[in-house]
Amino acid sequence: MPLDSSCELALPKGIVHPGYRLGFDLGGTKSEAALLECRADGRVRVVQRRRIPTPRDAGYDAVLASTAGFLLEIAREAPVSLDDLPIGVGMPGGVRRRDGTVKNSNTTCLNGRPFRTDLQARVGRRLLFDNDANCFALAEALLGAARSASEGVVFGVIMGTGVGGGVVFGGRVWSGLQGIAGEWGHHAVYATPADAEESLRPCYCGQRGCLETYASGTAVERDYEARTGKKLRLAEIATLRGSDPAAAACIECLVDAFGRGLANLIDMLDPSMVVLGGGVSNLDLLLDEGVERVRERVFNDELTTPIVRHELGDSAGVLGAALLGMVG
Ligand SMILES: [Zn+2]
Repeated sequence: MPLDSSCELALPKGIVHPGYRLGFDLGGTKSEAALLECRADGRVRVVQRRRIPTPRDAGYDAVLASTAGFLLEIAREAPVSLDDLPIGVGMPGGVRRRDGTVKNSNTTCLNGRPFRTDLQARVGRRLLFDNDANCFALAEALLGAARSASEGVVFGVIMGTGVGGGVVFGGRVWSGLQGIAGEWGHHAVYATPADAEESLRPCYCGQRGCLETYASGTAVERDYEARTGKKLRLAEIATLRGSDPAAAACIECLVDAFGRGLANLIDMLDPSMVVLGGGVSNLDLLLDEGVERVRERVFNDELTTPIVRHELGDSAGVLGAALLGMVG
């Protein structure tokens, strides 16, 4: 969706936190900030939104300086002091609880470095941080497709180059004891005898059979290339499935893994709503055939869980970052 001062956003009834909030979404190639005004009637106005390139090739210090400078610049446009402006930062990867260093970020110069502490020192105040999947889930729960379920548990799914997810309960992100809540992309959806484990696809995390190795866009494209020697994009593979047996087989792998993975997730969490995001979620077949596979496998004689497509698109990351900590 377009995200500017003309777009209509509103918080769910009962959640009223008037004031200004600043969100920052640190991406691999570009980063984005959005200044929001949350009004007393629950409406949310996008006061300012701006993007900058992420100077990741220039290294850690450059990313740090660029991020801090950009945050301070946008913060000056809020009609409140820096101390009175909640600031949230969303980024891929997580933070090690034991020493505060970044892990699993695709902006690899951040990995192993105390980005959170260093950025707070540069900006001169406390910041709220979370990973991009949790920010996506929070934005969809409070301003997007899952607003009607915001009092319950919302599971936000990201299926793109990888498979991730975030859990939001009552309008708050549930990060988990170790900060890995929602990481459903790395649960194995296929089992095999120990002596035949090689038949399962290997994952960069060190395991085999992870959902991500079957249900990400990258996985489907690799599968198609392995079967045919041709490189095609996911949407093209999906379009060809009626006439190309290799494409049909690749999509079958995707739909089967999605059904198994999401049924497992629903068995354990029984969320009030599931919101699908990321490039793979643009495939209509996920919402009909995919959901049917979930229905076949879930531990219940019916599936009443609403499984819906995202509403906020690319804007969810920065909106979710701005909303971090709003519901305390
Ligand atoms: Zn894995």
